[in-house]
Amino acid sequence: MSISTADVIVTSPGRNFVTLKLVTSDGVVGWGDATLNGRELAAAAYLRDHLVDTLIGRDEDRIEDTWQYLYRGAYWRRGPVTMAAIAAVDMALWDIKAKKAGVPLYQLLGGASREKLRVYAHASGNDYAALSQAIRGYVEEGYTAVRIQTGVPGLDSVYGVSATAKPGEKYDYEPAHRSARPDEEEWDTPAYLRHVPTIFEKVREEFGPELRLLHDGHHRMSPIEAARLAKSLEPHDLLWLEDATPGEDQDAFRLIRQHSTTPLATGEVFNSVYDYQTLITERLIDYVRSAPTHTGGVTGMKKLLDFAGIYGIRSGLHGPTDVSPIGMAAALHIDLAIHNFGIQEYMPHSDLTLETFRTSYTFDRGFLHPGDTPGLGAELDETLAAQHPYTPAYLPVNRLLDGTLHDW
Ligand SMILES: [Mg+2]
Repeated sequence: MSISTADVIVTSPGRNFVTLKLVTSDGVVGWGDATLNGRELAAAAYLRDHLVDTLIGRDEDRIEDTWQYLYRGAYWRRGPVTMAAIAAVDMALWDIKAKKAGVPLYQLLGGASREKLRVYAHASGNDYAALSQAIRGYVEEGYTAVRIQTGVPGLDSVYGVSATAKPGEKYDYEPAHRSARPDEEEWDTPAYLRHVPTIFEKVREEFGPELRLLHDGHHRMSPIEAARLAKSLEPHDLLWLEDATPGEDQDAFRLIRQHSTTPLATGEVFNSVYDYQTLITERLIDYVRSAPTHTGGVTGMKKLLDFAGIYGIRSGLHGPTDVSPIGMAAALHIDLAIHNFGIQEYMPHSDLTLETFRTSYTFDRGFLHPGDTPGLGAELDETLAAQHPYTPAYLPVNRLLDGTLHDW
């Protein structure tokens, strides 16, 4: 049998998603996710204009060979657009193979290594009262791990905190605004470094020692600033400090490690195992943060996590709402199967997104499970998708108070 059709579908049920649909000559359908937030049409064009014709007639069972054909065969390796396009093809092929076998994908990856997947929620607030109410809401829902993002006095908007959120309101943070050009935000690292440890002290005081706490620095600190924050947060026992400094400078993490035992996570903007090479072999991080959607799919992510596992580094896969439910499903099957699972990020998609994409994964008291539907257990309703055309939307850019462009 072989691949007979390949269609690229860009839809925007609340936000933009890029989906690949493969159909085999005997009618088996496979779905893949190539969503690249703010650059969706580049990933769609890569698939449509450069990959689709090479897929028709290929044996759908040859997943590793197809992955290598698209990765090595392009000559131009790596990069987020290339790796998102490869990811979509790879996920769709795994979906087809698992459907043909009549098993959920995790069974083909070695079977379940655990019963369920611990996830972390996103709590934020412009002040402590709002943040505390958000955390309490998640704890009542059964979450055992919460990412804490706080407003900073003197700054109008801060990454991870909704400017319009009401106290206790959840699932509210959507940074990619629908507009022809990005919003501009402002930033002041000294104010942030002074404020954040005081918030974590209050959270520990109110919620006790057992709740797992996480924080995302979102690439905004220099290495020595990151070291200072990691050191100042040590008494508050974080599960991880994420993206403390821009990760493409892998050597910079040595400096943070020299100063602190706060566990470190990075990699949501990475797309290849080579982006992690120094970080993993020198044990400079504790968690891998990529998403299968941006890392060459199930095949690319398995290679990366197997490599990390040799060095005792665990998964903390990216699970924002800017990967589609198909990409999220792929992450959950990998999480369930690998030995070195750490935790999974979980930001539920909107109701509109979940009407347009149907999934088999389930949430129960702070834990996810991919479900036992054959394949990935996620698919796109093409009729509904057609009702929501692509709308330009971009992540913000960020400037220091004097106007200098900074990392967002
Ligand atoms: Mg992050």
